[in-house]
This record gives sequence, C-alpha cells and structure tokens, in this order.
Amino acid sequence: MPKAKGEMHGCIVCGKLYQLYAAYDADGNYIGSKVMSAGGKVVKDDNRPLVACETHSDEDIERATERVFGSDDAEED
Ligand SMILES: [Zn+2]
Repeated sequence: MPKAKGEMHGCIVCGKLYQLYAAYDADGNYIGSKVMSAGGKVVKDDNRPLVACETHSDEDIERATERVFGSDDAEED
C-alpha cells in the first residue's frame, strides 16, 4: 500500500514553501504528490516530490529543475 506523508517543499524556482503530501510505495520509492497549499502546483518528476508556484511558466520550472538536479538526458549523450 502506498503511504502518503506531509512534507514541506520549496518552490523549485523561487524557494517559496508549500505544504504537500508525498506518496511512497512500500519500498520507499516516490510515487507522486499533491500540493495542499494554495498557489502551488506539483512538478512531474519520477524521483522526488517537486513543487512550484502556479505563476511560473513550464519553461521557468524546467530550467530551474535542470539547474538544481541536472538534465535527465545529460548522461545519455
Ligand atoms: Zn515560486
């Protein structure tokens, strides 16, 4: 059974804090999350809970994610 726990995460772009519920499977693998605070949205990521303000564009979020974690495609070249 997946387990959800409340976590605080900062917006990937500007660092504003949001409360979210992150779901993990029985092995502790991240499944997905849901933002509980107003004004935030979940950023799709396979490995970790990520959140961003609704006001940021997809492009801003993508750029910030790559800056912080590196591009997923980088190692395939
Ligand atoms: Zn933000």
